[in-house]
Amino acid sequence: GYASPRVIYWFRTDLRLHDSPALKAALDLKPECLYPIWTWDPHYVYRARAGPNRWQFLLDCQNDLSNSITKLNPNSKLFVIRVAPQTLFSKLFREWQITHLVFEKDTDAYARERDDKVMELAKEAGVEVVVKTGRTLYDPDELVKHNKGKPTMSISQVQAAGAKIGHIPRPIPAPKSLPDPGKTELSFDQEKPASDLDFNAIRRNADEKSYNALAGPNGDFAVPTMEELGLKEATTPHRGGETIALKMLDEIAANEDYTATFEKPKTAPTAFEPQATTLLSPHLHFGSLSSREFYWRAQDIVSTYAGKASHPPTSLTGQLLFRDMYFGAQAALGHAFAQTYNNPHCRFIPWHLPSSIDPKTGLTTGTYLVDSAAAEIFFQRWKEGRTGFPWIDALMRQLRQEGWIHHLGRHAVACFLTRGGCYVDWERGAAVFEEWLIDHEAACNVGNWQWLSCTAFFAQFYRCYSPVAFPRKWDKEGAFVRRYVPELERFDARFVYEPWRAPVADQKRWGCLIKGDGVETEEGGFKVYPKPMFDFAERREICIQGMKNAYRVALYGNDPKVLDGSWREL
Ligand code: FAD
Repeated sequence: GYASPRVIYWFRTDLRLHDSPALKAALDLKPECLYPIWTWDPHYVYRARAGPNRWQFLLDCQNDLSNSITKLNPNSKLFVIRVAPQTLFSKLFREWQITHLVFEKDTDAYARERDDKVMELAKEAGVEVVVKTGRTLYDPDELVKHNKGKPTMSISQVQAAGAKIGHIPRPIPAPKSLPDPGKTELSFDQEKPASDLDFNAIRRNADEKSYNALAGPNGDFAVPTMEELGLKEATTPHRGGETIALKMLDEIAANEDYTATFEKPKTAPTAFEPQATTLLSPHLHFGSLSSREFYWRAQDIVSTYAGKASHPPTSLTGQLLFRDMYFGAQAALGHAFAQTYNNPHCRFIPWHLPSSIDPKTGLTTGTYLVDSAAAEIFFQRWKEGRTGFPWIDALMRQLRQEGWIHHLGRHAVACFLTRGGCYVDWERGAAVFEEWLIDHEAACNVGNWQWLSCTAFFAQFYRCYSPVAFPRKWDKEGAFVRRYVPELERFDARFVYEPWRAPVADQKRWGCLIKGDGVETEEGGFKVYPKPMFDFAERREICIQGMKNAYRVALYGNDPKVLDGSWREL
C-alpha cells in the first residue's frame, strides 16, 4: 500500500543482524528510510533489577550492533532514545512521518503488555505494525496452542507440539546493505520523567542546560556509557555483542566431537577458564545470537557425525528445547508464572522453618511459627557467599563477580536455599539471580527455580545436593573453591569442602581460621572463613519432612489418611 515506506525497526531482545525474521520483514517493505532504534525501558531499570554486569553486557551488544549497522550504511547506526516506548512512540511517529513499525515478537509477560500498548498507539497514528517471531526455536504461542492450550511442562510436550508445528526454520543470512535513516532531529524533549528512576543519574552526569534527555549528552543518540548511566564498573570478564557470539559459536562448532557428543549431566560445574558448557546464554537472552542459528549449527554436525552423537534432552539441541519449554510455560501463564500466588502450576510450600515436626506423622505441631529471623540470616549469608560451605560460597561469589555460573552450580545453590538446606522461598532466590545473572531470562529463571525447589516441573524432593560430596565428585582437589574462596587456597584437599573439620593447628598453618559468621575476615594476621551456618544433614531431614508434609497437604488436603499416617510415600 505505501509508495515509500518510512520504517522504524525497534530492536529489543534481538541485538543482531543475522537470522532476524523481523529485520528481514522490515527490509522486504523496501523502505525509503529505515530507523534502527532502541528505546530505554524503565521496567528493566527500576528497582535495580539489573546489576552492572548485565548492563555492561547490554551496552556491549548495542555498541557492536551499532558498528555493524554503520558498516552496512555509513549514515546509519543504532539510535538509542532515552525514554520509555509507551511515552515516546506517538510523538516519534508524527515527527519522523513513520508508516511502519517492525519488531520481533516477545512473549514475556511484561513485554506483551508493553507491546499491546505500543500497537494501540500505532493504530491511533495510522502506522502499520509488523511483528515476527524469532526469539526461540518455536513461537511460544504456537507451542501452547499445539499443547492443548496448556503450558509446556516437559521436553516431550515441547517435542510433540513442535512436531505438529513443523520444522524449526533455517537461519536467514544477515542483510548486505541497509537503507538510510531519515532526518533524526526531534523538536520535543522528554516532558516528564518516565519513572521513578527518572534518569537522574544521566542528568547529574550531563551539562543540565545543553542536555537533551532523548538523544543523550551529545545529542547524537549514541549508546550510553556506564558513566552516563551512573553505574558502577562491571566486574564480569564476559563481554557481549553479535561479533563475539558468532565467533564463540564458530569455535564450538569447530570442535565437532564436543558439539555432537555434548551431554549436559556430564559437564563439570567446577570447570572454569574454560567452563564446561557454551556460555552462550547471555547472547541468547539479548539476541546477539539467534537460537535457530545455534540449533542448526549443532544439528548439522550431529547429522553428519561419524561417531555416536548425543540426543535431547542431554544434547546441545536438547538444551535449546529446555529454553523453549520455559518460554512455552510462561507464554501460557503470563505474569502468574513468575510467582506462587495465583499460579495453578506451582505447588504451595510454606517456606519457613517449621518450629517443630512430629516425627511420627511428619506434620508440624502447633502453628507454622516462622523462625523468620533465622531464615533471614540464612538468606543473607547465602546471598553474600558466607554460609561456611565453601562450594556454595564459591558459586555465589562467582555469580556476583561474573554474572554466570554453570547449570549444576545453579542447581546446587538453588536447592540449598530452598528445599535442601535453608527452606527459604524460591522467589527470593530468583530475585537475587535476576539482579546478578548476565543471562537473566525471566522464563528460564523462574522455571528453573520452580524445578529446583520442587514446586513445579520436578518433584523428587528427597534428592538433595550435598555441598560436600557433590562437588568432590567433580573436583577432588577443590581448584574451583580455591579460585573463588581464596581464603582456603592453601587447605589440604581433604578439608577444602569441609574446612571446619581441619585441626586448628592446620588452619593456622594454612593461613585461615574457621570461625564466626563471615562478617570478620581477619584476625591476628590470619584470614577468617566462617563456620558452617548449620549442620547440613540435620537441615536436610527437616527440609524433607517439611516437603513431605507440604506435598501431602497439597495433594490430599485434609484427607484423614494423611492425618493418620497411612499416606503413600511420594
Ligand atoms: P549450555 O549448556 O551451553 O546450553 C545452551 C543453551 O541452552 C543455553 O545458553 C540456554 O539458552 C539453554 N539452556 C540450557 N539449559 C537450560 C535450562 N535448564 N533452562 C533453560 N534454558 C537452558 N538460563 C537462562 O538463560 N537464564 C536464566 O535466568 C536462568 N536461570 C536459571 C536459574 C536456575 C536456578 C537454574 C538451575 C538454571 C537457570 N538457567 C537460566 C538455565 C541454565 O542454567 C543456563 O541456561 C545455562 O547454565 C547457561 O549456560 P550455557 O549457555 O553454557 O548453557
